[in-house]
Amino acid sequence: MSETRLNNEQQEFQEFCRRWLGENRPGPTKTPLPQAAYEVVDEEHRIYLSEWQAKCYQAGLIATDLPKEYGGHGHTGLQQIASAEVHRAKVPYFINWIGLGMTVPTLLAHGTEDQKKTFLPPIFTAEHIWCQGFSEPGAGSDLASLQTSAEKQGDHWVINGSKVWTSLGHFAQWMLLLARDDKHNKYGGITYFLAPMADPGITVKPIHKMTGESGFNEVFLDQVKIGDHLRVDEIGAGWKVAMSTLTSERGAGVGVGAVAGESPRLVMQQVINLAKDTIRNGKSVWDDPIWRDRLMKMYERTEAAIQNARRTKVKAINGGAMRIPLQSKVSGSEISQELHHLALGVLGLSSSLYTRDTHAADDGKWALGYMNTYTGTISGGSSEIQRNILGERVLGMPKTK
Ligand SMILES: Cc1cc2nc3c(=O)[nH]c(=O)nc-3n(C[C@H](O)[C@H](O)[C@H](O)COP(=O)(O)OP(=O)(O)OC[C@H]3O[C@@H](n4cnc5c(N)ncnc54)[C@H](O)[C@@H]3O)c2cc1C
Repeated sequence: MSETRLNNEQQEFQEFCRRWLGENRPGPTKTPLPQAAYEVVDEEHRIYLSEWQAKCYQAGLIATDLPKEYGGHGHTGLQQIASAEVHRAKVPYFINWIGLGMTVPTLLAHGTEDQKKTFLPPIFTAEHIWCQGFSEPGAGSDLASLQTSAEKQGDHWVINGSKVWTSLGHFAQWMLLLARDDKHNKYGGITYFLAPMADPGITVKPIHKMTGESGFNEVFLDQVKIGDHLRVDEIGAGWKVAMSTLTSERGAGVGVGAVAGESPRLVMQQVINLAKDTIRNGKSVWDDPIWRDRLMKMYERTEAAIQNARRTKVKAINGGAMRIPLQSKVSGSEISQELHHLALGVLGLSSSLYTRDTHAADDGKWALGYMNTYTGTISGGSSEIQRNILGERVLGMPKTK
């Protein structure tokens, strides 16, 4: 959809989304939800968020533009409207962000008809939660160094190895798995599988982050049996398929539903409010010219990034090689980090008060949020790696070795 005036159908759909989201906003949970979907560990939260996602799907806000035979709603040019309205309404996030954001676009591009028909519908309803088994202890930025092995035995594969940082691994029914079928061929010896997490050879162990949360895990695979029908694309084509998954993870794939949480504009406004409410040396931080200058510079940067992101919707100025979407991963994650850092500066000494401290401003959300912003600058390819990609693939600079 280009960013032009909405046609009648789109306008009606936008009105429907606004009305529906206003009328169906779910009530509060017993305990607060984590700041982001990748930190959900509580069973009560899982059920609440899965039900919410299923309801949004049934209302047509997820898989809006996908074909009906894959569980979609069969429209054209409406998904971006639904996703924008979900963000705007500030409703809870969708728990199945890996399924929606990575599995769906990957299977649409590389899956068989059977795989699309079988796996897509339960992703939309959150009946099947997905996780991503790419990273290993010795393979993060240099993902193609992965060592988890896949050996073909008749009509199935036997997988051995381990994965790390596996978000939502504790809830997942399915994993996007990369494994090595040929150890002498770094890039051409990787195959891509859909792995059932119920296999008795899979063990999931939580990893505790500096925030005290444990949304990601170690996953050990011991003699795991995977049918050949669960292989995606050709044997040895795993690197190509993985790049397609990562393109979606980095924000440049087919959208099937809004996944993320608070918008940078909203966070900026919250930081400004925080500055107005924080009194230091007898006056509000907002009234201190040095702080006002810092806040305004950040405001400009945030707005510039938002306007830049809008350009992704206008094909004619988007440039080749998905320049703006890929750039948005770097700038979006770094702006989020800077916004939280600024909030900590506004709070001064009290910024060290953490969640559960009754004296902490905004229930300690800024200290927790700041630590969590490192997720964005590391996961799905660190900022350094993203800059390498932009340099090589967009600016055409010489390749790094
Ligand atoms: C919260 C969170 C959730 C995650 N969830 C998942 C998940 O669900 N599934 C999954 O598979 N993975 C997941 N990851 C893993 C993530 O993809 C990796 O952490 C990331 O790719 C970096 O790999 P690494 O941690 O091994 O760091 P390393 O690759 O060891 O990098 C260490 C540092 O060196 C820098 N560096 C490395 N190589 C270069 C280079 N060539 N040029 C410049 N700098 C370089 C990096 O930028 C980084 O700063 C998650 C990570 C986080 C933080």
